[in-house]
Amino acid sequence: MIVAIDGPAGSGKSTTAKLVGIKMGFLYIDTGAMYRAMALKTKLNGVNFSDKENIIRLLSDTVIEQVVDKNTGDTKTFLDGQDVSSVIRTPEISLGVTAVCEIGEVRSKLVELQREMSKKGNVILDGRDIGTVVFPDADLKFFMIADINIRAERRLKELEEKGIEASFSQVKEDIERRDHRDSSRSNSPLKPALDSIFIDTSKMSIEQQADFITELIKKKL
Ligand code: C5P
Repeated sequence: MIVAIDGPAGSGKSTTAKLVGIKMGFLYIDTGAMYRAMALKTKLNGVNFSDKENIIRLLSDTVIEQVVDKNTGDTKTFLDGQDVSSVIRTPEISLGVTAVCEIGEVRSKLVELQREMSKKGNVILDGRDIGTVVFPDADLKFFMIADINIRAERRLKELEEKGIEASFSQVKEDIERRDHRDSSRSNSPLKPALDSIFIDTSKMSIEQQADFITELIKKKL
């Protein structure tokens, strides 16, 4: 079974998908982390985030993998064999990733990888284009939304927990900028699939969100 979760930044996709993965024994694939890893690769090689030609050149020499930590249920992201799960969350990478992920060659490589990884069994993936492009025939599609201030508060808390410094206004601005750019790009824009189920998570707990999705999965299994 393939479960797709799309939606804007900070709407609760990743935390919910991870919990659903644990509850249902599904593999959780964090596609945003893969694009972030490519942005990190760009930075580590001293390439500008807008330098399309050199980013494409780096692609053939890039290995991105995701592995579920059996103890915590966390999906860890590896770039060329190194665990980069934390470093890909910095404001600098959040800023650069929107340009890197717009490159057609980057998207093709990562979408292929996402489809390959999903052959392993039951999967839940979160991102921006899962229900529209990566798996248009997914068994269940969700589109998560939430009030912008709540999304910014959640993201700020996540960053604080990871020891990354940021202010509320900085985080809110980043979310608004990314949502605008992700929704207005021509290649795989952020938009709900016609057959997606909307979940407004503004007043919901992670448990409630996960239970809602889990119940629907159980009905389909
Ligand atoms: O989900 P997360 O906020 O970590 O994603 C980081 C960025 O990666 C998004 O703002 C978006 O630009 C890009 N992305 C994408 N397609 C996906 C997942 C993420 O373009 N499926």
